Amino acid sequence: MDTPLSPEESRTTAWHALPVDDAARRLASAAGGLTDEEVARRKEVFGANALPQKRPPTVLEIFLRQFTSPLIYVLLAAGIISVLFVDLTDAAFIFIVILVNAVVGTFQEVKAERSATALQQMLKIHARVRRDGREATVPAEDLVPGDRVVLESGDRVPADVRVIRARSLTVDESLLTGESHAVGKNTDPVDVSLPLGDRQSMLYAGSTVMTGRSTGIVVATGQNTEIGQIAETVTASEAGKPPLVIRMEDFSKKISIAVLAATGVLAIIVLGQGVPPIEVFFLAVALAVSAIPEGLPIALTVALSIAASRMAGRNVIVRFLAAVESLGSCTLIASDKTGTLTVNQQTARVVALPTGEMFSVTGAGYAGEGEVLDGSGGPVAGSVRDRVESLARAATISNEAALERTDEGEWAYQGDAIDVAFLALTYKLGLDPAGIRESAPAVAEIPFESERRYAAVWYREGGETLVAVKGAVETVLPFCRTMTAAGGGGSVPLDPDRVQEDLETLTSRGYRVLAVARGRAEGEVSAENPKVPPLELLGLVGFIDPIRPDVPDAVRRCRDAGVDVVMVTGDHPATAFAIARELKITDSPDRVVTGAELGDDEVSTFLEFIDRVQGARVFARVTPLQKLRIVEAYRESGAYVAVTGDGVNDAPALRSANIGVAMGSGTDVAKDTASLIVTDDDFASIVAGIEEGRYAYDNVRKVVYLLISTGFAEVLLFMLALLIGLPLPILAVQLLWLNLMTNGIQDVALAFEGGDPRVMNRPPRRPEEGIFNRLMIEETVISGVAIALVALGAWYWLLSNGWDEFAARNLIVLLVVLFENFHVFNCRSEYFSAFRVPISRNYFLIAGVVAAQGIHILALYVPFLQDVLQLQPVSLVEWLSLLALASSVVIVMEVFKAVRRHRPPVHRTGTGVGEAPHR
Ligand code: ADP
Ligand code: MG
Repeated sequence: MDTPLSPEESRTTAWHALPVDDAARRLASAAGGLTDEEVARRKEVFGANALPQKRPPTVLEIFLRQFTSPLIYVLLAAGIISVLFVDLTDAAFIFIVILVNAVVGTFQEVKAERSATALQQMLKIHARVRRDGREATVPAEDLVPGDRVVLESGDRVPADVRVIRARSLTVDESLLTGESHAVGKNTDPVDVSLPLGDRQSMLYAGSTVMTGRSTGIVVATGQNTEIGQIAETVTASEAGKPPLVIRMEDFSKKISIAVLAATGVLAIIVLGQGVPPIEVFFLAVALAVSAIPEGLPIALTVALSIAASRMAGRNVIVRFLAAVESLGSCTLIASDKTGTLTVNQQTARVVALPTGEMFSVTGAGYAGEGEVLDGSGGPVAGSVRDRVESLARAATISNEAALERTDEGEWAYQGDAIDVAFLALTYKLGLDPAGIRESAPAVAEIPFESERRYAAVWYREGGETLVAVKGAVETVLPFCRTMTAAGGGGSVPLDPDRVQEDLETLTSRGYRVLAVARGRAEGEVSAENPKVPPLELLGLVGFIDPIRPDVPDAVRRCRDAGVDVVMVTGDHPATAFAIARELKITDSPDRVVTGAELGDDEVSTFLEFIDRVQGARVFARVTPLQKLRIVEAYRESGAYVAVTGDGVNDAPALRSANIGVAMGSGTDVAKDTASLIVTDDDFASIVAGIEEGRYAYDNVRKVVYLLISTGFAEVLLFMLALLIGLPLPILAVQLLWLNLMTNGIQDVALAFEGGDPRVMNRPPRRPEEGIFNRLMIEETVISGVAIALVALGAWYWLLSNGWDEFAARNLIVLLVVLFENFHVFNCRSEYFSAFRVPISRNYFLIAGVVAAQGIHILALYVPFLQDVLQLQPVSLVEWLSLLALASSVVIVMEVFKAVRRHRPPVHRTGTGVGEAPHR
């Protein structure tokens, strides 16, 4: 078969005005979808279904970008002045330093950029298609015109699509039309001349399905889509800089100004002492380089992106780098139950008929093997069996999933977990779901949506139109007038108390309970907007959904880490409580609140609302709107909230939370609004994310500590020497060397530190707390002063004991390098002894220290460097004495850590299970 149309036609045809059959014919798209060969052929013609992305910067561009900082301008100026007034070797040296610095900067930025791209790759969207008569999930990029896509609420529309089947379908097209209300869609062709926003028969790429289900034929992909023609390129979610990096840039800027002012004053003093202006100029430059932490912002970006890739390794994908930092401050996680705390592998365990009989179901998992047993342990039989079968039939009809035994004898499934579990139950009764569905063709449906809590399907059977319904008991029961009677069929008036009794029995055991009912349609059934008639209750089914194995431990770790865990679920309060108790989230039923008890949203009651929210640990039967208000209430009361979500309507809550966490299996809408995506849906991964976030923040502090304290030490040494009238202890070129070469290597290495697991025994950091808290200031000042004083003492001693300035300075520079190398180890922990931080946590650091020391030793021997840096080889005795002196900074800081006893604040566990302090 020839490809039926050209890209040109795909773009210009008025698909919205064509009847479904015509459109399908033009696209040569049969009911079973395209064949694989045809898909391959069309892909050649139409290309990938993707919009051109903004090109990432090349390495060269990143390299050139390194030269656009004020500090580099100053250095360049210094280089040029050297060429003119001093000599070429000095100039060459300055240019080499600038170059090396740019190379290191490029290395860091490329690394950060790479990991950002890798993360973007993981966020690709997928589409469900029918191809070769089967349903499959493919990357949206692989779609071609003629493909049949299946869409449901929460999906992003992956291409321009002609609707061929629609059920309660509404779509948000605001991206294209600016219209923020969801618009209804159906299959009828519309007038050719209608504008985009009124073409009800089309779904356009870039919009999202808000409710309902749909099947459609792809008519245009990639640049041929409407959005492809508007948007030249899409900026792949232009992630802003993390606030931390912005704060640090700001901080660097302020320091720079202060340093420049101070340097000005110093320059005048030195000039007054008769030092030649050129020399003063170079000193000013070198001092500025020492004191300005220009490497800080990029070092932080690197630390954060390292953390982001570590998180990805633990199933947490960070959509914005900022989220890495914020995770560390999380004080409360509001978690979904189903799928996040539990595995969402539902298995029907109990069937309760309205007459009060209960039957147990054997067999586990998504397999149709097992039996429904009666009280005596044998399979159900006779009239009882008939009634259980009617229930299973109704639940199979009002069901969107598929469960089949493959030729290999395995069970393959697709669709919602509860739906699949109902199909497994049907198999266990010896019935065939496919046969049941064939004998009961659907005419209308109300698809399951989380906040609706039920699903209904109208179908034809024996010349009648019937409706099958399943859903939450409280939702389905009000539709019911009658219930199945005992014996040979027939029904009796509904006895709600009877049903309530069964419900309580089952929920209190932790079962998720659904009701199944059936009824006869009244009058004509509207396909668009069907109305549920009075129903007959067929029975209740109790499902178990095991707790995820890692979750109990993760909840405990949260408690140790001072992070509260609350459950927010659409499920029944008793079921929710049973799970919450098992997880030790709470053991008091008083702390379970339902959506109805929370009340509606009146501003006057917001304080009351906050109060009710704070008293609770489990929120059951909540609507998405209430979820949003719960998040707001927690934030209002000072918590830093992470909230999980997967559904279409979770988006507002995810957006409003400090940290929105979408589930990997969740809808595209949820993922688009969240700042994190947990690929395996597991609550334990969120906790791993918090741990990594805390590590990241710690690392950032370490890098800051190292850079600021060494810069401070150099400036202090310098000023003190001037003050007491000693010659300059370090020359300008030497200062450049120390800051941009040796220290530059160390700070990169420090950004790679592995985490200290003890972070999870600390309470969360207060989000508003800056990096420069009291501890940081104390440590910076003390270590800086120690280095400066020891170096100053050495300088004084050397000069007064007959060393010439040149030889003495050679030793002082080496001493500072050694100081830096020792001090890196101090910076590895703010709280604990440097000797208690295992080397294995960062082998990179050892390499960094060896490299930094190595190049300095090189400089002692290589003639060119000897010359510019005014260095010379050092004797063994000198080496040993300098080493001894340099180790003093470790001793000082060890003593400080021991005396100050600045243990990390230990989080005190509450008074017991679920009694976390009322904040
Ligand atoms: P959760 O917060 O636990 O994820 P959901 O929003 O998925 O809860 O479901 C809410 C309620 O809707 C459930 O308690 C159940 O009664 C009902 N329900 C869940 N899945 C289905 C389904 N596939 N069909 C009909 N009703 C369902
Ligand atoms: Mg759910």
